[in-house]
Amino acid sequence: MVTDIEMRKEIIKTGILLLEKGLIQGTGGNISCRTKKGILITPSGMDYSALVPEDLVLLDPEGKVVEGARKPSIEKEMHMKIYQLRKDINAVIHTHSVYATALAAARQPLCPITDNQVALFGGTVPVADYAPIGTEELAQSAARSLAGGSAVLLSNHGALCVGEDLGEALIRCEMLEVFSKIYILAKAAGGGAVLSDEQVRCEADDLRKRYGQNR
Ligand SMILES: [Zn+2]
Repeated sequence: MVTDIEMRKEIIKTGILLLEKGLIQGTGGNISCRTKKGILITPSGMDYSALVPEDLVLLDPEGKVVEGARKPSIEKEMHMKIYQLRKDINAVIHTHSVYATALAAARQPLCPITDNQVALFGGTVPVADYAPIGTEELAQSAARSLAGGSAVLLSNHGALCVGEDLGEALIRCEMLEVFSKIYILAKAAGGGAVLSDEQVRCEADDLRKRYGQNR
């Protein structure tokens, strides 16, 4: 059973890892987790490496601050909206990783051109309609485009991944960046053949049966 303090430390560690892996820059991006007490989220505009557990902000299911003296992330509405709609996920990470953000700036979805992407994301990673940072409109558009998936690009801004826990969300952020880089390089190399809906469906079914260890 993960305690509240352990969860706070894990969020801070994740922020530092995002910086080290180049998935965010400076004080950008934000991280949250669903806990028994509510939603724990990073504070607005603070250096991840200087954060202490008390800097994190605890929100109730309506997004009201119930614990913490800091101002919560400007994107708290987006995190809250996703938790409200997705009972299956407990972690949300928003990044500004370069290649995923380049696709988001071009408002281009990440189409499936590798089977590895199909295995991890189940097909295309969509682009949410543009809305200004920190608005209810952005929260709506991000949640709508994410739907039941695990990642979404945010027009002219960045990317967002969800997971059952922070570790899963972090791996998805890393892999979204890898697949975005491959996609952009393949485009530059002359195209990148997009797998058809039928190929994506077959591949996803097949991998579910054959890949990894039996549970
Ligand atoms: Zn952002």
